[in-house]
Amino acid sequence: EFGTIADVIRAQAAALQDKPALIDARRTISYAELDALMDRIAAALQRDGVGKADVAAVCASTSVEYGATFFGVLRAGAIVAPLAPSSTPESLIVQLEDSGAKVFFLDKGVADHMAGVLDQVTAKRVSLDGSDVGQPFEEWLVPEGAKPVLHEIDPDQGFNIIYSSGTTGAPKGIVQPHRMRWGQIRRGVYPPEAVSLVSTPLYSNTTLVSFLPTISNGGTVVLLPKFDVEQFLKLSEKHRVTHAMLVPVQYRRLMAHPDFDKYDLSAFQMKFSTSAPFPAELKAEVLRRWPGGLVEYYGMTEGGGSCGLVCHEHPDKLHTVGKPLPGHDIRLIGEDGKEVAQGEIGEVVGRSGAMMVGYHNQPGKTSEAEWWSPEGLRYIRTGDVGRFDEDGFLTLMDRKKDMIISGGFNIYPSDLEAEIVQHPAVLEAAVVGVASDAWGETPVAFVALRPGQSVSAEELRAWVNGRLGKTQRLADLKIVEGLPRSHIGKVLKRELRDGYRAPAQ
Ligand code: ATP
Ligand code: MG
Repeated sequence: EFGTIADVIRAQAAALQDKPALIDARRTISYAELDALMDRIAAALQRDGVGKADVAAVCASTSVEYGATFFGVLRAGAIVAPLAPSSTPESLIVQLEDSGAKVFFLDKGVADHMAGVLDQVTAKRVSLDGSDVGQPFEEWLVPEGAKPVLHEIDPDQGFNIIYSSGTTGAPKGIVQPHRMRWGQIRRGVYPPEAVSLVSTPLYSNTTLVSFLPTISNGGTVVLLPKFDVEQFLKLSEKHRVTHAMLVPVQYRRLMAHPDFDKYDLSAFQMKFSTSAPFPAELKAEVLRRWPGGLVEYYGMTEGGGSCGLVCHEHPDKLHTVGKPLPGHDIRLIGEDGKEVAQGEIGEVVGRSGAMMVGYHNQPGKTSEAEWWSPEGLRYIRTGDVGRFDEDGFLTLMDRKKDMIISGGFNIYPSDLEAEIVQHPAVLEAAVVGVASDAWGETPVAFVALRPGQSVSAEELRAWVNGRLGKTQRLADLKIVEGLPRSHIGKVLKRELRDGYRAPAQ
């Protein structure tokens, strides 16, 4: 069975009519209105020469218009490229060119950010917020009642191109096919009565895996353009929110808010997390203090194998990311490219019906990301290192690029981080390897303290080293205000490594 999200929304609109589909601070749009707006967007794109499998890019702050545009591009039979406003202006130009976008939707904020390079944009500009940074959205739309041409869509056609967050290098355009999204919306995770609060940016895969299924299944999405703890709590209470996908750092901030327990969050059915390590102790706290279930997903934008941990059913497995989802196969491979024995550590490779077509315009990078099993099946390499326990739950250690090899020993920064956060004064920690004459590489820690706590770097390092094995001991520890993070909340270890200066001897 295969269909498209644009067609599903048409059917939902016919059935649900005035039910709110998208809500932001300025307006609410019903299913019937969303469907009609999608037609007008699709017809306007086709008028502007956007054909089947052509690309339209969006880079803007989250809004109802952004959401509708995402679906409108799909209704036109085209591919949507949602770009991250947090990318540098130069990188945005590269991404726009690489995507081949014919139309570029943006807003004033993004235009200001790109001021120095805006004249290099070759795509037609449409301004989603009505400002003069492109043709204003309302004016650009075709009149009400206009109908786009509906194209037959192949399951392997591109649905969206998502540029990877660049946590480990330059962003790559990941082409996800319709088949992949179809699988996600049919997983049965979001019931029709779902009210999802979206507080991560729309361009991110993390957001889309909750945004798309909520709408496709007839739920309501409340949009919060910029995460703010109090806003999140207020909106949750006001709209009786049932579902939310949050990244671990957002859970951390919510749990730390003094008024968290005063809000009525009783409508919550399920919370989700993905994209970065979610400490077991934090999962336990969320389970304790926040009504409803908690599910952690592990996966990557490229697709392949994803895992899920239903935390409320497996309180003894909170240190893992769970088991492969149905239809997903995960194997672990060693340096020699062969599968490792059960219980051993290896690089995670995964395969499913939901894999990227490839990296856009980068066949070389695409084949580097593939692993072929002895039976000739295609898997995707994740660059993450992990181990299966005896019950089949996957524990993730680190990204391969973050592993430290010191004097011939493998050091897993995640092991060290887990020890450091045991100290009562510590809020969070990141360990990276830095060059060392004696050892090749040696571990160094960056630590943020809990508010109101104080401990000296030397004292803390001595405390930690007393708990670590000899080969793992920290060469240095720096106390920092906070860890550098990407827009979606991932710790940027690359920045920590690059910025590190060894203390004078
Ligand atoms: P880039 O590929 O550009 O360096 P990225 O890998 O961070 O960026 P994404 O596809 O957004 O881009 O993230 C996938 C990665 O995020 C995974 O490979 C893994 O390292 C990490 N990740 C995802 N889910 C989890 C999780 N539940 N726990 C720990 N890490 C996770
Ligand atoms: Mg990646």
